Amino acid sequence: MPLGSLKDGEMIRIIRTGLTRTHHPQKVIIVGAGMAGLVAASLLKDAGHRVEILEASGRIGGRILTIRSPFTDGLYMEAGAMRIPGNHFLVFEYLRKWGLTVTPFQNDTPMDLICVNGVRIRQWEYQRQPDLLRYPVWPRERGESADTLLRRALRPFLSLYRRLSPEGKRRLIREMDGYSMETYLRHNPWGAALSPEAVEMIKVIWDLEGLSENSFLGILEILDLFLNPRLHFYEITGGFDRLPGAFLPQLKEEIRLRQQMVKIRQEPDRVLIYTRNRETGKLEQYGGDTAIVTIPFSVLRWVDVEPRASFSHNKWKAIRELQYIPTVKTGLQFKSRFWEQEGHQGGKAVTDLPIRFVYYPNHGIGSDGPGVVLASYTWGDDAAPWNSLSADERISRALENVARLHGPRVYREFVTGSSFSWTRHPWSAGSFSLYEPLQYTELFPFIPTPEGRVHFAGEHTSSNPGWIEGAIESGIRAAVEVNGDRRRK
Ligand SMILES: Cc1cc2nc3c(=O)[nH]c(=O)nc-3n(C[C@H](O)[C@H](O)[C@H](O)COP(=O)(O)OP(=O)(O)OC[C@H]3O[C@@H](n4cnc5c(N)ncnc54)[C@H](O)[C@@H]3O)c2cc1C
Repeated sequence: MPLGSLKDGEMIRIIRTGLTRTHHPQKVIIVGAGMAGLVAASLLKDAGHRVEILEASGRIGGRILTIRSPFTDGLYMEAGAMRIPGNHFLVFEYLRKWGLTVTPFQNDTPMDLICVNGVRIRQWEYQRQPDLLRYPVWPRERGESADTLLRRALRPFLSLYRRLSPEGKRRLIREMDGYSMETYLRHNPWGAALSPEAVEMIKVIWDLEGLSENSFLGILEILDLFLNPRLHFYEITGGFDRLPGAFLPQLKEEIRLRQQMVKIRQEPDRVLIYTRNRETGKLEQYGGDTAIVTIPFSVLRWVDVEPRASFSHNKWKAIRELQYIPTVKTGLQFKSRFWEQEGHQGGKAVTDLPIRFVYYPNHGIGSDGPGVVLASYTWGDDAAPWNSLSADERISRALENVARLHGPRVYREFVTGSSFSWTRHPWSAGSFSLYEPLQYTELFPFIPTPEGRVHFAGEHTSSNPGWIEGAIESGIRAAVEVNGDRRRK
């Protein structure tokens, strides 16, 4: 919802032809080798700057994480990003640039299972007879599906927003910033309020129960994509890790793995980044004219900043208050793709079991042999029970829940599994930023602004938070800031 300052066309041109070549080369320290850091480093190196990328973990890609082991037969699960909306032009521009291809990702199909309220039906049955799910909605809501009710509730706001000028949009965002999705649906300022039971049904079917206290505007950004019937989604053929991996030939000399930033020190003529070398335990120091910090604010909280006042009051507030939602994903490998015999070719199962959403693989459809199902994707409060378990326990519980959808056959078919908690991941402490009420107005304006010699990138600093698109946008924006910054010479 926040309005970006660089236009899409300008950014696409920069990806294609690069930044203006600099006459004032700088030494730029980039912290974090996720998509934001890789994009910024690639553009700045091409423009003639010296870059050095400090990455705490032992790999690049950050929240793009394709888990290949312990799966067999070349199978994998996407623990992080797994789908790209067709209107994420910057991602597609990089895919084209690196010669990567995509496969359609089916978010939903008429054969999707819906197992809620003790009822087990298919999506097509639900769309025909929504009352089969037995939610005690108000009489005027009977016969209406969660999709219809949700679209009707959002339509007046969305059509008003789309008609407004940029200034009008900003005013409306300020006006609506105090709402959570829950309060919007129950007390819709633009249309009919919904019964608590209709809101409950919407939250279960749209996987919003874990996020009901998050910002209405933040959730709307996500929903707006999924509610658009003309928008198709895609996955990267062969695994999402191919996208960050494509930057390696250009940047492998500049990337320092296992270097955890622990302190930023700004001096009048340089910036120093102190790291703890995760292999040796020793403190190291990297000096530059400028730094680009791309790490999530959730983990920037651990980093000392000297002098403290080199960051503004509002930046400190944003670093402390920006929330990263908990997320756990668990993938299970089975000997055969039995779900395809039951009619699932991609798509998902919607449940009110602890696993919540199950995603069936979109690649390898129709092939013989094993496959990996994303047996559980939980976020927000729904991830809490999973975070209390070990990875092995999560795999067992996910298998038990999947057995309730597909019967005891799953125990015979089960081969192996993997589970990843982003809450327990030390380099993001959560999955992606999602605002709470009032944070668009009170935090967002201060998140991307440079503080002295330190620039900020990462999905959380972008107009598209929570997406690879946002990470790329922010990497381009930070590279433009640094390249245009002539103060140093
Ligand atoms: C579960 C999940 C599902 C998602 N689904 C999608 C999706 O389907 N589609 C989509 O487009 N996007 C999705 N996303 C979002 C997308 O993955 C992110 O927006 C994007 O990858 C973030 O890139 P980034 O560069 O901003 O941050 P990151 O990828 O987090 O990069 C930051 C880097 O900094 C490193 N780091 C952290 N702390 C330090 C430190 N102290 N010192 C040095 N380095 C440090 C980290 O290890 C990391 O490599 C999903 C994310 C998650 C977690």
